Amino acid sequence: MADVYESMLSSNVGRSILSSLNLPVPTELERHSQAQTSFVTGNVLIGAAPGGRMAESIASTLKNSAASVQVANNASALPEIKAAAEKAELKLTEIDVSAESAKFKALVFDATGIENSEQTKELYDFFHPVIRKLHSSARVVIVGLPPESCKANPRQQIAQRALEGLVRSIGKEIGKKGATANLVYVAKQAEKAAESALRFFLSPKSAFVDAQVLRVSKAKAVENDFNWNLPLTDKVVLVTGASRGIGEAIAGVMARDGAKVVCLDVPQAKDNLQKVADRLNGGIIAIDITDPEAPAKIANTLKTEYGGVDVVVHNAGVTRDKTLGGMPPHMWEMVININLSAEERINDALLESETINPGGRIVCVSSMSGIAGNFGQSNYAVSKAGVIGMVDAFAPILAKKDITINAVAPGFIETQMTAAIPFATREAGRRLNSLKQGGLPVDVAEAIAFYSSPASAGVNGNTIRVCGQNLLGA
Ligand code: NAD
Repeated sequence: MADVYESMLSSNVGRSILSSLNLPVPTELERHSQAQTSFVTGNVLIGAAPGGRMAESIASTLKNSAASVQVANNASALPEIKAAAEKAELKLTEIDVSAESAKFKALVFDATGIENSEQTKELYDFFHPVIRKLHSSARVVIVGLPPESCKANPRQQIAQRALEGLVRSIGKEIGKKGATANLVYVAKQAEKAAESALRFFLSPKSAFVDAQVLRVSKAKAVENDFNWNLPLTDKVVLVTGASRGIGEAIAGVMARDGAKVVCLDVPQAKDNLQKVADRLNGGIIAIDITDPEAPAKIANTLKTEYGGVDVVVHNAGVTRDKTLGGMPPHMWEMVININLSAEERINDALLESETINPGGRIVCVSSMSGIAGNFGQSNYAVSKAGVIGMVDAFAPILAKKDITINAVAPGFIETQMTAAIPFATREAGRRLNSLKQGGLPVDVAEAIAFYSSPASAGVNGNTIRVCGQNLLGA
């Protein structure tokens, strides 16, 4: 059946009918275009609770954008914000936020100074007058301290943890406009290393990443001459499952960012794989990742033909759905083997043979099913929850080797896989999120590219959902 809902959304009449029936009418999301050189443009309002540590880092990040940076003339931390802007040589305009004309592309608030629950009123004071004054596809970014780093002061730990409630609620309130809200917990001495996260969450690259919490730990920031538009120059990136769907999009974004991409898929998909690689001027490895010889062969090819690998993206994955009681054993074994065990074996081989170069990145693709579970997907959910476990287990181990590991957990993404879902179920999966629409493969790819950047050295051990704040599994 043709997608009736989608075709109604494409006409003004259709949209007003859906709206009058109280059915979700999504805003078209703004996404990154090649012509865009600034990560954010338009009016960006910044604010801070007194005593925060991020104002300078926020100011120096925004200095590198084409945004017009503003501050409320009655902001409680006005002197600190002004001092930070002056130090970063950022032009800052004081404005009256109650003015009719005030309208914003982004709101950024440094909440690292909040030490107790009473001070959460700072959040209200900043957001209340402006939250209804957002452009479509606007961004809200709140920066806090990792609560677990505040153990010496339980009241501060509680107040910092409370920030999650705000982004998750704001996300739901502004989603109709295609706008998102995210929280970045920045550890002490990680202030400069947080630039890549601030840029990502403020940019159209995070179009479908909503109501997420990311942690940035202490790490060396990139040099001043770092090329933010070609961050993966001279890097070798392996993408598994790259012949189609999300993997193909990941390979494309990696090549756009300057990488040499090695595309891997099963031998049966070789023709398509070669087409993708040719388009991107990359290489191929046609192998089944569950082949017992695959880990050694992959490591050997990467080492001898490419001089090692800088980024490994474990994207290959399958579903074999059946309720647990009716599931034959081979369906369980196959899904766990491809989606989890093969990744573990490949990681082991690459690490043992020291094929991953210093500053390396491992990025895994989990799923909403791995967080919320799903009817008929016990095998898949186990494999994808296991992927999150792999990130948790390996992050501290790899940190010692100067390698990071992170995951994305996609929600409903428009691919061949989701197009095959029956209409009613598909519509529910697609609309039941704050942005009222499915994501695109490129949305997953952009989050993976953010993790992969040399500028994301402090981003380790995270799983962020690329799901438009799906109502399940929050
Ligand atoms: P897809 O089926 O279009 O692509 C998966 C690719 O992996 C295929 O090219 C396939 O040939 C390859 N592959 C499968 N088994 C392999 C093996 N043994 N060895 C090597 N390659 C193998 O699926 P997709 O929608 O693009 O999904 C990509 C990833 O994203 C998967 O891990 C999937 O679980 C995950 N994901 C997708 C969605 C979604 O909505 N599409 C949601 C959540 C998670």
